[in-house]
Amino acid sequence: MLNKIVIANRGEIALRILRACRELDIKTVAVHSTADADLLHVRLADEAVCIGPAASADSYLSGHAIISAAEVTNADGIHPGYGFLAENADFAEQVEKSGFVFIGPTADVIRVMGDKVAAIAAMQKAGVPTVPGSNGPLDNDAARSTRIAGEIGYPVIIKAAAGGGGRGMRVVEHENTLIESIALTRAEAKSAFGDDTVYLEKFLGNPRHVEIQVLGDGEGNAVHLGDRDCSLQRRHQKVIEEAPAPLIPEDLRNEVAEACVNACQQIGYRGAGTFEFLYEDGAFYFIEMNTRVQVEHPVTEMITGVDIVKQQLLIASGNGLGIQQHNISFFGHAIECRINAEDPHTFMPSPGTINYFHAPGGNGVRVDSHIYSGYRVPPHYDSLIAKIICFGPDRDSALRRMSNALDELVVSGIKTNIELHQRLVNDSEVRIGGMNIHYLEQKLAAEAES
Ligand code: ADP
Repeated sequence: MLNKIVIANRGEIALRILRACRELDIKTVAVHSTADADLLHVRLADEAVCIGPAASADSYLSGHAIISAAEVTNADGIHPGYGFLAENADFAEQVEKSGFVFIGPTADVIRVMGDKVAAIAAMQKAGVPTVPGSNGPLDNDAARSTRIAGEIGYPVIIKAAAGGGGRGMRVVEHENTLIESIALTRAEAKSAFGDDTVYLEKFLGNPRHVEIQVLGDGEGNAVHLGDRDCSLQRRHQKVIEEAPAPLIPEDLRNEVAEACVNACQQIGYRGAGTFEFLYEDGAFYFIEMNTRVQVEHPVTEMITGVDIVKQQLLIASGNGLGIQQHNISFFGHAIECRINAEDPHTFMPSPGTINYFHAPGGNGVRVDSHIYSGYRVPPHYDSLIAKIICFGPDRDSALRRMSNALDELVVSGIKTNIELHQRLVNDSEVRIGGMNIHYLEQKLAAEAES
């Protein structure tokens, strides 16, 4: 068993990891920037090390500082959380080369999944459905690109193999702009990611975002924990997530989840991971794999009873999976609202001091948050301040609970998006379920006009 780990993250996920460590009697080292000395998990951790100034580039993104902290505290593992260095293959490699356990997949697997062209090829090999496309990089042969796009049918999307965070993509409506769009995306990819490899795939007009959670032991054993729908997004940022994804035929749901398990077995996937799909007209299309814990993991925990972060720690300790597919059952429905410190109209971050915080409670209500009354939200990081997760025996009761929980929630002193969530969980379309990824932005645009 791991004895002591460094939590290389901040905010709610650092606290979430700390809690799992405590349940497993793993000691914790919080590494934090100068702006984060008063974070809750820093106070609760067994040890704390300041690793640099407020700017992430000099602290949470400084692999050297984090590995040094592991060395001086005599830790034996590093949990990267999500964001920051969580999907940085070079960091994972450095961690393991320095003699520490990286709590996540091997650097090689992270590298393959970070290259979208390689990831798609690995998925096709494992029978995971992908978006019709160029099946590999585009070269400089304009006639070939034109032929591929023509066969797929417009609109198509040009994507950077090394892209991420919604960047490095361009939609092409007509053949007459294809070649210049490829050149533009290539140039942008070169400057943003240092890699000008681009590929092409069918652009889906009104898809939903549905993803499958998996766990693998790195030895060829893997299980899935079902799916989540994360279609309510603004600017590619998820706002509300739920599990299971509503209105999907059971046989299709199982078929895709099994294909994901198969892929994990083939690539010897280690740890927790997520296969992201677009879902349109009753079909799944793989877009990417996230090789880390997701912000929205709690909704899956609520409907399966499996503690995903504990599983990550157990797998990294070499204890294997401990659960088999037939042990995993799904019950009820869970919804998560991401509470952000942001202006409800402009969506600009709203850092500052929280005068008063009151968390909701009651049956089936979970709050994952690092904030407290008097806490100052620093301006340097992501604006996520809390996740409210509500469980119910069915979707409707989960939504009703969420509405009550949002009513009880009080965060004063800063601006938040609580009211947006309240409108969304009571929205007639959201109550039905199965909205596509454009729904939220279209609703906001319609509201702005009226
Ligand atoms: P990133 O790594 O930047 O998140 P993804 O490949 O996951 O890139 O795509 C990000 C988003 O772009 C998706 O969630 C979806 O909204 C949109 N997108 C990506 N590929 C397609 C596609 N083929 N058709 C329609 N939308 C797409």
